[in-house]
Amino acid sequence: MKALRRFTVRAHLPQRLSALAALSTNLRWSWHGPTQDLFAELDPELWREVGQDPVRMLGEVPAARLDELAADDDYVARVEAADAGLRDYLTRPRWFQEQSGTDVAGIAYFSMEFGVTEVLPNYSGGLGILAGDHLKAASDLGLPLIGVGLLYRSGYFRQSLSADGWQLEHYPALDPQGLPLKLLTSEDGSPVLIHVGMPEGRVLRARVWIAQVGRIPLLLLDSDIAENDPELRAVTDRLYGGDQDHRIKQEILAGIGGVRAVRAYTHANGLPDPDVFHMNEGHAGFLGVERIREFVAAGLDFDTALAAVRAGTVFTTHTPVPAGIDRFPMSLVRRYFGGSEAESTLLPGLALDQILAFGREADPGVFNMANMGLRLAQRANGVSKLHGEVSRDMFASLWPGFDASEVPIGSVTNGVHAPTWAAREWLDKARELVGPELVEEARGWENLSDVDLGELWSTRQELRGVLIDEVRRRVRASWRQRGAAEAELGWVDSVFDPNVLTIGFARRVPTYKRLTLMLRDPDRLRALLLDPERPVQLVVAGKSHPADDGGKALIQQVVRFADDPAVRHRIVFLPDYDMSMARYLYWGCDVWLNNPLRPLEACGTSGMKSALNGGLNLSIRDGWWDEMFDGENGWSIPSADGVTDEVRRDDLEAAALYELVERTVAPRFYDRDERDVPVRWTEMVRHTLQTTSPQVLASRMVADYAQQYYGPAAAAFAKVSTDDFAGARALAEYRTRVDQAWPSVRVLQVDSSGLDIPVIGADLSLRARIDLAGLSPDDVTVEAVIGRVSPTDELTETTAFAMSLEGVTDGVHDFAITAPVPLSGAVGYTVRVLPRNALLASPAELGLVAVATG
Ligand SMILES: *Cc1c(COP(=O)(O)O)cnc(C)c1O
Repeated sequence: MKALRRFTVRAHLPQRLSALAALSTNLRWSWHGPTQDLFAELDPELWREVGQDPVRMLGEVPAARLDELAADDDYVARVEAADAGLRDYLTRPRWFQEQSGTDVAGIAYFSMEFGVTEVLPNYSGGLGILAGDHLKAASDLGLPLIGVGLLYRSGYFRQSLSADGWQLEHYPALDPQGLPLKLLTSEDGSPVLIHVGMPEGRVLRARVWIAQVGRIPLLLLDSDIAENDPELRAVTDRLYGGDQDHRIKQEILAGIGGVRAVRAYTHANGLPDPDVFHMNEGHAGFLGVERIREFVAAGLDFDTALAAVRAGTVFTTHTPVPAGIDRFPMSLVRRYFGGSEAESTLLPGLALDQILAFGREADPGVFNMANMGLRLAQRANGVSKLHGEVSRDMFASLWPGFDASEVPIGSVTNGVHAPTWAAREWLDKARELVGPELVEEARGWENLSDVDLGELWSTRQELRGVLIDEVRRRVRASWRQRGAAEAELGWVDSVFDPNVLTIGFARRVPTYKRLTLMLRDPDRLRALLLDPERPVQLVVAGKSHPADDGGKALIQQVVRFADDPAVRHRIVFLPDYDMSMARYLYWGCDVWLNNPLRPLEACGTSGMKSALNGGLNLSIRDGWWDEMFDGENGWSIPSADGVTDEVRRDDLEAAALYELVERTVAPRFYDRDERDVPVRWTEMVRHTLQTTSPQVLASRMVADYAQQYYGPAAAAFAKVSTDDFAGARALAEYRTRVDQAWPSVRVLQVDSSGLDIPVIGADLSLRARIDLAGLSPDDVTVEAVIGRVSPTDELTETTAFAMSLEGVTDGVHDFAITAPVPLSGAVGYTVRVLPRNALLASPAELGLVAVATG
């Protein structure tokens, strides 16, 4: 008989072990080895069976075993020490508390997915894991941050393979009661319900689960409750499942419901209202509209509310791939936000057209969530230096008249949470050979120079061994699942060789990541795998979006190749890539391969996790690798950037990849000294650990956000909100005035002198006559822009000089400057007028500029 429904009953803990409850529900255990050990010790076998999940462990361990350990003074003492350690971690002032000048009351961080631990499978890939790492590092650094997202009944999906290698999807349902979550309740103990309006007068309700991630609460909205009708119950069923209609409901719940959940949470806990709201990708963009509604309800006019919201909002864009950006039909947004020019039904007080305008793009029928993010946030960034550049280009049309380099989108390069992703073996070795400060405080990397190469190599060998055991276990399970009998699987024991160069490739399977580039020339790949002297072995993993048959076909190609008895001991495809598998790959692979179509990989973080474990990256110079490859921490696969024929480009880049592996990577790995240590290789490992690791840390990333984005956003919000939003009113009034005047602002005439004998450094004098169309000279900056000029008169390498006001004649303002010519060669100049206001974050912010025309 099958159960209709399942639920989880938590065990009653002996009093002496009662601290295990708190240790199991604060997810800090997921990056704290000693706490994991305590749960493992309850029953090592069971610990593996329950997927290393402390809450399940406590539910399933026999009471007799708990009683036995309650009588074990040593175990009890360690539980108490871990409990005291956790309390200390949660209360002691940390990095953020020691910063001066970063006065931030609170940050609400919104993301559609969070990958904190495999126990809470609320993520699909890089974006979610990054969000999880962001919370963990924010906890370590002591930021006053609250995470906000949705709790999906079935997470993303579990992947397995059919006999012929086709991806199969499963959606096991999670029981929130069995997860490390607690409900947000009101004073009387009843669950808080968030309400969000839906078309036809319906109401979507959601309860709010709290996952405690160290010091950081993560609020997860859940619509699967009896108060909703079946259709609305299903809103939080799956991550990235369903159609556009389903998706917009999820995003409305995450954005609008998310803000309401934050209010309920801070209110219940006596916390200050967050002053900074961070949209991790455009999906949660509706949060900005809800905040405008709040301000309007409190009496501000729309423009003032918008100015206030923008000041405190940060938007991070995560992909240059158009398919990765949410674009809804305008008609759909219209339907959900409803109403008229006077009032939206979903957000009363706002006009529908005002909301629709936030998502406008070139195609009038489309509502673009990234554009909304950019319009609602005064500060925005990409996730690596190169991606910042690509994003400035990509979104340049929102700032017409500005060069792409002036588009106000910066960058913070992603990072990874070292305590989560570095192997215990490395942490132990670092403590022993360098000192605890390296592990506890990420200090003292330079001392790695003194560590013996043999020591480093032995850890690399050990971790490759751990990976190989895991590979064999998973290959066996996969074949069993594909229908093979145990008796046919003897060969699995010789899958992979502990002494062979091991290359990993694991990621989601969108086209631009090119899962099958390695298969471009199958014979050449076979030759690499089977090389008698210097073989390589390859572990591949990745999920394709369930609706993407193209991606599934790529997976099938790899599986079919790897099924061949001639190579199956050297190449494996492991189904169900997730955090629990990924960590073995990062620990054990010697080389981490990444071959995206440049520049479509915004950052990429898997290679960072590999580097943290001494893995050497072999990658196209895209994302993070473009800025962190230094010639000694791995290899760059030459990319054929200019080649527009994609087939030819793949051919060229695949050939370059084979060549590198054959001529450079493998020979170095197999070049051994008398102790059988590959000296040059291990020097690269040491160099990577020493110089790349400290750059890829999530703590570096979150500190960058705190200093470059959260601090300035909180300061900007304070400026516009004091004195009952006097600043926001002034800024809104300024914006309206400038918007109205701008079409008539003109550079009427420009005269120069001093160019008779042009030499570099000589003074150039410019005078410009400007029609300010009624604006005051204080409202603008008039700039002379001097730079290199192309045959088509494009200016590059520009330097801008502010011109000073000389006088007014007949309502026309005269500005002048004398400046040294900064360049030699073909030089040009122009004059432009920009808005100027102390409350603007950048002169390009309003997208207004008047440039002299010839
Ligand atoms: C790190 C990680 C990713 C993201 O890797 P990319 O290099 O950004 O593709 C995806 N899934 C899992 C399980 C990860 O750990």
